[in-house]
Amino acid sequence: MAGTTRCACTSSVEQTRAVAAALAPHLRVGDVLVLTGDLGAGKTAFTQGLAVALGVDEPVTSPTFTIASQYDGDALTLHHLDVYRLDDVAETLDLDLPDLMESGVTVIEWGEQILEALPDGHLVVRFVYGEGDDDRQVWFDGGPVWFDRLDGVAEVPAC
Ligand code: ADP
Ligand code: MG
Repeated sequence: MAGTTRCACTSSVEQTRAVAAALAPHLRVGDVLVLTGDLGAGKTAFTQGLAVALGVDEPVTSPTFTIASQYDGDALTLHHLDVYRLDDVAETLDLDLPDLMESGVTVIEWGEQILEALPDGHLVVRFVYGEGDDDRQVWFDGGPVWFDRLDGVAEVPAC
């Protein structure tokens, strides 16, 4: 069965957060989201929307310097990683990814840099700048397990 590709077009940070919030109810322990896209494209904004929707009641900031942060939501724990500063995939061993995956949803900014350390079945969320300053395309690419879970979150590509 083919994978899933969907896209949502947003024109404000609030809309990008809302796309993430729409995905939140479909997430489960063990899910891994790889967020990819240029600096300022919206990866952290998306994670903020996800966190609020999961019931996290503290502000989510960029974990660039800490690499990994953990937030407790109502039903799920959110692990927020930013691996931009990792020099080597070998360093991902220090992140204890299997432990993180066992205990919550794991969102990894710049995660494409450590793809070989990630499980099959992760969802890639790619942020692309659009024409206007605040326009973004949010592309979702995942295996068949994501097919139904993206209904109502993003459209089959049209934008
Ligand atoms: P990244 O984590 O990808 O480096 P951030 O989420 O930290 O990016 O920053 C995105 C920036 O772009 C924020 O300043 C946000 O206000 C701005 N922005 C403008 N339009 C959008 C949009 N449609 N979606 C997301 N962010 C947007
Ligand atoms: Mg960021």
